[in-house]
Amino acid sequence: MTEHPSLSIDTDIAAALAQVRREITTAAHAGGRVEADITLVAVSKTQPVALLQAALSAGQRAFGENRVQETAAKWPTLRVQHPDIELHLIGPLQTNKIKDAVDLFDVIETVDRPKLAAALAMELQRNPKRLRCYIEINTGGEPQKSGIAPAELEALLALCRNDYKLPVTGLMCIPPQDEDPALHFALLTDLARRHHLSEISMGMSADYPLAIRFGATHIRVGTAIFGTRLSSSL
Ligand SMILES: *Cc1c(COP(=O)(O)O)cnc(C)c1O
Repeated sequence: MTEHPSLSIDTDIAAALAQVRREITTAAHAGGRVEADITLVAVSKTQPVALLQAALSAGQRAFGENRVQETAAKWPTLRVQHPDIELHLIGPLQTNKIKDAVDLFDVIETVDRPKLAAALAMELQRNPKRLRCYIEINTGGEPQKSGIAPAELEALLALCRNDYKLPVTGLMCIPPQDEDPALHFALLTDLARRHHLSEISMGMSADYPLAIRFGATHIRVGTAIFGTRLSSSL
């Protein structure tokens, strides 16, 4: 049997997405939640446009990228064809890329310092658009990782809300690879509730059902949808 290559890509991605969506439903129901309250952010970093198109054809609309330049190369054309997509920045943001980031993304998940918050607020004054921000929490206290310590959240949030009027709507975390993520997921949900933030971004291919049981509203899933990445960029 010979099949057109792009047809089999479409079928594979559609099947993988359907499988992830089934697991979202199962995990949501197990936790007394509804699947509609959980947004699947398909992490498409390093993946070629053909795979993004396959995911779009299968109805996927929220995507995560970790680099501003790669996003600028891949997404503007696709957005013309699909104006209803939502792009999440899930990698660190340098202040010199803020203008492009505000142009390209709908959600910046990695706000982690006052200087970045100030620069984002300033760019939003210049280029008013509907953008949401999450604060990244380094729940594992890992020195090499971005994100603020849980104890710093109150001050940064106050600054964002009161001084910068930055639309912070959620929290994001990437738990340490060698630890049980459950404690980190519980901590992030607790922080979000205490600070009245409705969006909770946690859980990746290996642990998203667990993240959903602990309250995730946004899960970031790459490998389980698109397969192994050619170049690693985490
Ligand atoms: C790459 C990445 C993901 C997706 O990881 P998978 O294991 O491929 O699902 C999620 N979140 C962040 C921040 C990432 O960089």
